[in-house]
Amino acid sequence: MSRPLRVAVVGAGPAGIYASDLLMKSDTDVQIDLFERMPAPFGLIRYGVAPDHPRIKGIVKSLHNVMDKEQLRFLGNIEVGKDITVEELREFYDAIVFSTGATGDQDLRVPGSDLEGSWGAGEFVGFYDGNPNFERNWDLSAEKVAVVGVGNVALDVARILAKTGDELLVTEIPDNVYESLAKNQAKEVHVFGRRGPAQAKFTPLELKELDHSDTIEVIVNPEDIDYDAASEQARRDSKSQDLVCQTLESYAMRDPKGAPHKLFIHFFESPVEILGEDGKVVGLKTERTQLDGNGGVTGTGEFKTWDMQSVYRAVGYRSDAIEGVPFDDERAVVPNDGGHIIDPEVGSPITGLYATGWIKRGPIGLIGNTKSDAKETTEMLLADHAAGSLPAPAKPELESIIEFLDERKVAFTTWDGWHLLDAAERALGEPEGRERKKIVEWNDMVRHARPEYDI
Ligand SMILES: Cc1cc2nc3c(=O)[nH]c(=O)nc-3n(C[C@H](O)[C@H](O)[C@H](O)COP(=O)(O)OP(=O)(O)OC[C@H]3O[C@@H](n4cnc5c(N)ncnc54)[C@H](O)[C@@H]3O)c2cc1C
Repeated sequence: MSRPLRVAVVGAGPAGIYASDLLMKSDTDVQIDLFERMPAPFGLIRYGVAPDHPRIKGIVKSLHNVMDKEQLRFLGNIEVGKDITVEELREFYDAIVFSTGATGDQDLRVPGSDLEGSWGAGEFVGFYDGNPNFERNWDLSAEKVAVVGVGNVALDVARILAKTGDELLVTEIPDNVYESLAKNQAKEVHVFGRRGPAQAKFTPLELKELDHSDTIEVIVNPEDIDYDAASEQARRDSKSQDLVCQTLESYAMRDPKGAPHKLFIHFFESPVEILGEDGKVVGLKTERTQLDGNGGVTGTGEFKTWDMQSVYRAVGYRSDAIEGVPFDDERAVVPNDGGHIIDPEVGSPITGLYATGWIKRGPIGLIGNTKSDAKETTEMLLADHAAGSLPAPAKPELESIIEFLDERKVAFTTWDGWHLLDAAERALGEPEGRERKKIVEWNDMVRHARPEYDI
């Protein structure tokens, strides 16, 4: 082939950026267009990672090196499946890699989930991380708050709820978020898990970090520290799980430090109902569970009611289907075989379509995990290219897609545009001594990123 291999990567989160990086580092002459539905890149690093995790947010600095490369164009503010169909996209590219991640909350299937004051954790994350698709104000009048789930997202939500607004003012949170957080009345935050410490999905660093705030007292009931044979095995098999257990044991054993906000982590409490009065949350009903010897739990028939004015359901994220791409509703992933997208009707790969990141394997794992994922997917793509099995697109020229988008009047943003938006956010933060203050409104983001465009 005398022209470069043309690849569209859909989704500019870590998975899409790492996949682009690997393709560009290969021996193949490749030109990539990185599509993103938000006006800004970086996916859940921008709209998921908590604002008080500046070190993790800082990963974007290393991703800049990838985005700076000439072989890559960032095309933001374009939703694939809506602004351009997958079929249309195929006219311009030899291959398409979907790295569309996850945004929604998985359901907690208990009665009362739809009461006022019951929230999906992802909704709250979207709010405090300044995602324009979510609420601008948040009612934080609840003094006792439940967080259901024992993963890192549950810890993020619990930590943000237990910290004071002023503690978070040093971060990139926008003014509207600070105004809500400053009114936070939460005195007690209760995290609930239906299984035990050895089954918790926390990572050790995030669990330890809870204790770093002077305003937070982390409390674990010694009776909730329990292991069966399978749990002991899980600790032996995983250093990380063992560290999580050790940290929880230390929280259970120590004397209180007297911090004003209590953050309880409860194990063996399975939420069975969110209780309401007049349509509003007033409590959470749980059933005590016990280990069954295999690391699972069974109900004991012993129920408890906890007074709570708010419940956050942090039982996992969920990916959305992309129009024109097969979707496994049950697992909420694009059906794939290590990265090749599979046509479920016939059970074989659809030539030229690939998946990577959370949309490929489900919403589990840290940013670093998307790297190994991307390696597997891009190796498949390059092998298909080498074998000559990718279908040749009708319009592979670099300008063709730009002409198409201009004709359709899609106000797409670019990498230069990101630099403008980035500079505007930094300038907003500077007078307050902050690294940045996020711009929230969609149109404001586009206006900064694409000043010549009249919206
Ligand atoms: C609340 C939360 C906190 C987290 N904190 C940490 C942490 O502290 N440390 C850590 O290592 N990991 C953390 N993670 C995990 C980390 O965010 C994920 O591992 C990683 O972001 C997954 O990468 P991804 O690229 O697959 O998906 P995403 O980051 O979700 O990126 C997908 C991108 O695709 C875009 N997209 C979706 N649909 C379309 C479409 N149709 N057209 C165009 N673009 C589209 C989305 O807008 C998004 O930008 C956290 C996750 C969450 C949810």
